[in-house]
Order: sequence, then structure tokens, then C-alpha cells
Amino acid sequence: SQPISFQAKSSPIAFQCTRLFSVSRPTLEDVAITRTGKPIIKIAGGRSSLGGHTATVFGATGFLGRYIVNRLARSGCTVVVPFREEMAKRHLKVSGDLGRVVFLEYDLRNTASIEESVRHSDMVYNLVGRDYPTKNFDLEDVHVEGTQRIAEACAKYDIDRFVQVSSFNADKNSPSEFFRTKARGEEVARNVFPETTIVRPAPMFGFEDRLLNKLASASNLFTSNHMEERYWPVHVIDVGMALETMIDDDNTASQTYELYGPTEYSTAEIAEFVDKEIIKHRRHFNLPKAVMKPVAQALNRAVWWMKTSADQVEREFIDQKIDKTAKTFADLGIEPAELPSLTFDYLKGYRSSVYYDLPPQTERERREEKRYLHVID
Ligand code: NDP
Repeated sequence: SQPISFQAKSSPIAFQCTRLFSVSRPTLEDVAITRTGKPIIKIAGGRSSLGGHTATVFGATGFLGRYIVNRLARSGCTVVVPFREEMAKRHLKVSGDLGRVVFLEYDLRNTASIEESVRHSDMVYNLVGRDYPTKNFDLEDVHVEGTQRIAEACAKYDIDRFVQVSSFNADKNSPSEFFRTKARGEEVARNVFPETTIVRPAPMFGFEDRLLNKLASASNLFTSNHMEERYWPVHVIDVGMALETMIDDDNTASQTYELYGPTEYSTAEIAEFVDKEIIKHRRHFNLPKAVMKPVAQALNRAVWWMKTSADQVEREFIDQKIDKTAKTFADLGIEPAELPSLTFDYLKGYRSSVYYDLPPQTERERREEKRYLHVID
């Protein structure tokens, strides 16, 4: 590529102009034609760059949402964030430059508001999901009907790409309603929009997770399966990275990805890591399923904040099964992080301050301590 520069270089101002306008012509690869034939100006990336994709992220106000909105916005994409509660979306505003993160109020039952959210985008992510039924939405409403409305809006406006975030163990014959409805959501998405990319994350851990924080919290934990369920926990930042990769790689269209961590653990094993990291012993009580399920159901109906539900008790008895036909992190060129390498970062806040001068407890602390060893003479 040839630099474009001014002819007159005699004065200092002209010299400045030369420097200002001495930009490379974009090469042909800088313009990409999307699946539906729209041109996209590919940008080098950076928070303040112009051009790039416009992506709508449904469910951006949740745990995973911030890790994809942040990645897209900081690489210069315009991100449309449909939201339903003012306070829940505030933290996303600063993840991008002024005007790059756009908020639109929507309702999962209001088709017009969903269409308004997707019509200017070339990429749509659906992260909407709930672990438990609520007063106004059961799992079918959220995972099946909600997905159908979003997929139909994508088809109506001929959106280039649609990514549906489902779940590990999504199976129409599962004893868990959550896994059944997630599988039906996948089916509905593929029927309406055949190029849908399906992403099935394993249980995710990170700062705002419901895995490490639950095991580390001071309240007693009630379980039914002695915490013996086994799964491959995955780092939420790795899942965010995978979702971002999909925006630039059209080969991921129509594919199914199972995103899981490198090692399988039981909840009891993770609880051991947690206790070691927080230097406290958390108490766990095991109650029979026959007692726990009705109690969890009654609690789910009685209180409006997240506690537990009968279906969550059911899920304790289901180990994660890997679908060998699905693609994984390896197909996206991502190496997933190990859980024990990050527990210190996520759990140090739970430690008592009396331990501030303890010798390093984890491999990472030991590595970091080395930074302060100097050979002076
Ligand atoms: P969160 O529960 O943190 O966030 C869920 C999002 O869905 C929120 O933005 C929430 O909006 C939105 N939502 C839920 N119900 C409704 C509704 N009735 N109408 C409109 N919006 C709704 O989920 P995560 O970020 O943890 O997970 C993202 C996706 O990944 C979900 O689909 C989840 O099922 C799936 N998944 C998660 C796993 C995990 O370990 N976290 C494991 C496997 C799958 P609002 O903020 O307004 O409530």
C-alpha cells in the first residue's frame, strides 16, 4: 500500500499535514462482504476506531454479557444492548467509546422492541437465560419462546449472523427442565434461522459467577448429591473470547460449539480449592432429594431473589456429558484456562484480613513474589 501525502513540504505546517495525512490506503482485505452481501469496513481495532461490526447482545446485563460487550466495544464495534432494568446496564456504558454502546429498552414478549433492537445490526447474540422460573416467566418462556422471537426478528431483517448461547447437557430427554428447554431453544433457533451458531458453555467461573461465589459465601450450602456432580468448569473470559472470534469468522455459522475447561472436577473438589484459598471452612449440608426438591420449590415461589429451585436440585444429579460431534475451543484457536490457576484472583476478597502477611499460598503468588527479589551488586 502507498502512503498518500501532500506535495508541499517546505513549511512546518505543511510538514505536520504530511504527517497527519500520511495514512496507508486500505488494502482490499480491509473491506469484507458479509454473508448477506453487506460491506463491512474491517478495522485494525481499538476503542476509538471507526467502522467494524454492529452487534446486538441480548442478555448483556448478565454475567457473561459484560465479557462479550466489553470485548466488542473495546475493539471499536458498535454494540446494541437491549435492556429491561435501568440500573442493570450502567456498567456497560463505559466499556466502549462515546456512542458505541447503545441502549434500547425491550421486553422479551414485545416483538416490535426485539425487531427494533436487531434491525441495524449484522451480528446478534442471544445470551438470555434463567436458572430458575420466575413469577412472570417460566423456563419455556425464556429459553424457547424468547429465542423464537429473537430468531424470527433476525430472519425478518436478514441479519448476517445469529449466535444462540445454550447450555452444556442441552437435551430434549433430560430429567431437568432447564436442559430440556435449552435443547428446544436450539431447535427453534435452527428451524427459524438455519445458520445459527450454537454455543454450549460448561458451568462458568469468574468474578460474578454463581459457582465459586456460592461455595465461598458465608451462608450454609444445602445440597442433595453430596456435591458429587462432575463437570469441566470454564473461564468466562475464554467464553467471551470465543464469542468475539465468531464475529469475524463466517466458518462458525451453522456450527455447534461446546465450550468447556481442560479438567473435570466434582463440586466437592472445587469446594476444597475454595476452602484452601479463602482459608476458612465452609459448612455444607446434604439433604435427601425428596426433601430438598419441595423445599427448593417453595423457596423459589416465596422469595423473589435468587435462591434455588427444584430444577437446580435435579441438575445436581446430572454429570456433564461432552458431545463429541460438537466443535470446541481448539477449533477457535483458544486454549482454555485451568480453574486452580485463577481461584486466588477471584476469591482473595473472601479471606480474612488477618492473613495479609502470610507466605504465598498459590503458585501465582509465589511467581509474583519473585518479582521483588533483586540482585543489587
Ligand atoms: P445471567 O443469569 O447472569 O444473565 C441472564 C441474562 O438473561 C440477563 O441479562 C437477564 O436480564 C436476561 N433475562 C433473563 N430472563 C429474562 C427475561 N424474561 N426477559 C428478558 N431478559 C431476561 O446468565 P449468564 O450470563 O450466567 O449466562 C448467559 C447464558 O449462558 C444464559 O443463557 C445461561 O443460561 C447460559 N449458561 C450459563 C452458565 C453459567 O455457568 N453461568 C452455564 C451454562 C449456560 P436481566 O438482567 O434484565 O435480568
